[in-house]
Amino acid sequence: MQQKKRILLLATGGTIASRKSDNGLKPQITPEELIEYIPQVKEICDVEAVQLLNLDSTNMEPAHWKLMVHAIWEHYDDFDGFVIAHGTDTMAFTASALSFMLENLSKPVILTGSQLPLGMLRTDGKENLITAIEIAAAHDGDSPIIQEVCIFFENDLMRGNRTSKTSADNFNAFHSYNYPVLAHAGISIHYNLPHIYRSKLKKPLKPHYTFDNNIAILKLFPGMSPLVVENLLKTPQLKGVVMETFGSGNAPSSEWFLKLIREATDKGIVIVNITQCHTGSVEMGRYKTGHHLLENGVISGYDSTTESAVTKLMFLFGSGLSSEEVKEYMQCSLIGEITVED
Ligand code: ASP
Repeated sequence: MQQKKRILLLATGGTIASRKSDNGLKPQITPEELIEYIPQVKEICDVEAVQLLNLDSTNMEPAHWKLMVHAIWEHYDDFDGFVIAHGTDTMAFTASALSFMLENLSKPVILTGSQLPLGMLRTDGKENLITAIEIAAAHDGDSPIIQEVCIFFENDLMRGNRTSKTSADNFNAFHSYNYPVLAHAGISIHYNLPHIYRSKLKKPLKPHYTFDNNIAILKLFPGMSPLVVENLLKTPQLKGVVMETFGSGNAPSSEWFLKLIREATDKGIVIVNITQCHTGSVEMGRYKTGHHLLENGVISGYDSTTESAVTKLMFLFGSGLSSEEVKEYMQCSLIGEITVED
């Protein structure tokens, strides 16, 4: 008989672990209680739960991502898969960051949470947690089916660095617009095998822990104040900017705007162009309003999510790379986060 798989559940807080308090929902449920809500999982695997944090994920910081990576690294050989119970608000940032931090990952790391706390009658937490655990335990022979950082929510398993939170109240709260879902859970779980990441070389897990937070997001809108853009781009120590542009990567042609962009890129600030549209990719050569960004040193973020572009910049600069090196890596897919030709 096949041995039951061992899953480590890392509890970090969020709505899933919350109860009502005098001033709103607050994470309070212990990891032992989390497991008590889903006794059925004992039938499919052995789950051990650890309280890593107890936060509303709005308060998540890179220091907390490091704790998660360290826990996975420390217990890597003892478990077959990892599930992280996490608040939904910043789950896509954590999933993106973890995908870059866990180099050579070859076991599943599945983040999940819920829109209603586990203790509430109509909670979505039980199903999310049970299915995330089942997916983390799923093997094909000796190999885990999933070998990357994912988010499971409602019915879908999505690549973590391709996912965004898209609804503040629907149970179907996350989407992966530019990459197919990796599995769909209905009566049975269907895995989308051709789209699941497989590392070509089997190397030992290499955790990374350093981030540089001298990064900003500049979201364009008609009528932007030159003073605001100037202040942002002249922030002392600024190293990278994720610029959310219109359509296929277009931005205003105003002289003041392009001059500020040029001054920033000349100083070595890496400006990454991603689109405000949910689907599709940046293509700066398509319109003149995109081409002038290319001429002024802006690089393409292709079809990246904001969450992935921001955490990738923080990660690359945190690794001590030069601006030129960061530019190069931003335009390559490190772990399936963007669609680029090889
Ligand atoms: N504010 C909560 C959090 O992100 C929301 C949730 O978990 O759904 O921790």
